[in-house]
This record gives sequence, structure tokens and C-alpha cells, in this order.
Amino acid sequence: MFEDFVRENNLQGYRLKQLYQQYYTEAIESWDALTTWPLDLREKLKKAIPFSKLENFQEYVSEDRKTIKALSFTKEGFPVETVLMKYSKRNTICVSCMSGCPVGCTFCATGQMGFNKNLDTQEIVDQVLYFKRKLSKEGEKITNIVYMGMGEPMLNLENVVRSIDILTDPEKVALGKRRITVSTVGYIEQLDQFLSMDLGVKIALSLHAPNQELREKLMPTAAKNNPLNKLMEVLKDYQERTNKKITYEYILIKDINDKEEHAEELAELLKGQIALVNLIRLNPSPLIPFKPSSMNKTRLFQAILNEEGINNTLRYSYGDEINAACGQLANIQRNAKQNH
Ligand code: SF4
Repeated sequence: MFEDFVRENNLQGYRLKQLYQQYYTEAIESWDALTTWPLDLREKLKKAIPFSKLENFQEYVSEDRKTIKALSFTKEGFPVETVLMKYSKRNTICVSCMSGCPVGCTFCATGQMGFNKNLDTQEIVDQVLYFKRKLSKEGEKITNIVYMGMGEPMLNLENVVRSIDILTDPEKVALGKRRITVSTVGYIEQLDQFLSMDLGVKIALSLHAPNQELREKLMPTAAKNNPLNKLMEVLKDYQERTNKKITYEYILIKDINDKEEHAEELAELLKGQIALVNLIRLNPSPLIPFKPSSMNKTRLFQAILNEEGINNTLRYSYGDEINAACGQLANIQRNAKQNH
């Protein structure tokens, strides 16, 4: 995009560097702030390239003010949700790679809203830049990025990879590769392709069930064509090659996947791997028919994993009251205080 503009206008290479520096690194607020470019060139750029492809950002802030959900819209009017979580000295941005999602996992509100479109590279990066600008006004920085918002990254792989390139490029957003996590439900072919690129980012698998049968019930579209045994082979190969830890996300759903035998089966499945299981109690949504596991069941599940030597954490859900927690991004705004 910027590269084309520079080439088409016969500009010298240093103009591109100036643009990268101010737009991505300094996170300027508008094209008018691109002061390293002369006014006539800036005006030309303004006409050729929108400052942000996502527009009409609205913010919803949690009661403790530590979680902020930004709702924005594509040019076609499709909603996109992005979440900033400010906890434990981290500023983590949860980005979306799609508006809606075609995968339709039964426990996920995004999956129930249907699919609008794959976001292009700039629309993904725009979400990060929006919060980078906001944080830099507060004297803060982004520390982590997770691709865990709306959509399945493996089904929009090209744009996800290109956005990672921009976010980790030392001349652009310059984030450390290990500060980025890509989460997938596990489309084997695309995941294999993604892992073979060895981008240095972290990988998380949305597992949510310890066996194929239950996985097919919870995530029918993804699980049917991507058998769990083959999926695990791909991840084990990657781990043998790289020695890198894999995170497994496991949403605990009342009476569905939270029994003792599920914990035992999960421990068996992950035995011998360098794995971290992120347990998350289901975040309720009016769009889904499930309830979260009780705290007692959750603790028992965790105790079994501990006993079996499986590294795990119970992840606190941020932003539930503004529908900004995991699996709740579906353009529903409730109990939310809106920032203007
Ligand atoms: S869990 Fe991920 S892949 Fe499944 S429906 Fe939700 S957003 Fe899509």
C-alpha cells in the first residue's frame, strides 16, 4: 500500500522510512501529523490512502477500567471488535482477523453471529494502531498481542502472516515475536503451513475437548475435517523440531467437558509434551446455550492436571460485563459504559 504510493510517485526510499517511523512506530494521530513529509506530498497521500481502513471506533469500558473493547466498522459496514486488557503490568491487545466467523463453534458467540468477511492486512493492523495511539497518549506501550478475537486465523492466513510481518518489523511496529500469540481451532493443512514458516510467534490451540467425539460436538465444522490425532501429530512434530511450548486453550463448560474423566483424558493426550493448558471458565453469552463450570468442578479439574504433571493455569476472564471476554465478541453491547 505505502510501498505502491512511494513507487508510483517516484519518491526516494527514505520517504518510506519516514512514513513507517511516524505512522507505525510513533503512532501519529492523522496524516496531518506526518510532519517529515512536505505538505503537498501529505495532501496527495491523504487523497490516496485512508489513515485507517476501520472507522467509527466506539469504546466500551469495564467497571474496573482495565478492559476496553473497541467496536469499529469496515468500509462495508461490518463490525470488528478488538479488546485491550491492562492487567499484571501488561497491555495485551486481542485482535480480530475476521468480521464474524464461519466456523460456528457451539460455545462461541462470534460463531453464532455468522460470517461477514476476512479482514485484510491493514484492517488487522489498524486495530493494533488504534490502541497503540491510545496507550502512547497515556505514556504506555503495547506489550502483547493475541490473535484470539473474531475469526479463525488459519482461514485468513495470508493476511494474518502479513500483519505479523508489519507488527514485528523493527522499522514498523517493532514488537517482539514471542509477544505475539496466534490461536487456532486447528485447520491441519493451514496450521502445518503456518508452523513451517517458523515466524517465531507463539501458538495456541483451542482444544476444548480431550477426544474427537466431544470435539465434534463442540466445534463440528472444525473438528470433523481435522481429526484430533492428526492435529496432535502436527503439533508434536513442530515441538520436536523447535522445542517450543504449545498452549492449549480449554474452556470449561458445565456438565459437558468438565468431568474428572475429561481431565484424565486430557492429561493422557498431552503427556510428554511441553504444554501449558489455559483453563477458562466459559463466558456466558445470550447467544450460546451453555453455562460455566462451577468453581468446585474447575478446581477438581485443575487438581487432576496437577497430579498428572500437566502444566496449567486458570485464566481469569476480563471484560465479561462488556461482552469483551473470550468467545463473547459478537457485536452485543450490554451493561457497558461507552467512552466518547
Ligand atoms: S472459537 Fe474461534 S473459530 Fe470457533 S466460532 Fe469462535 S471465533 Fe470462530
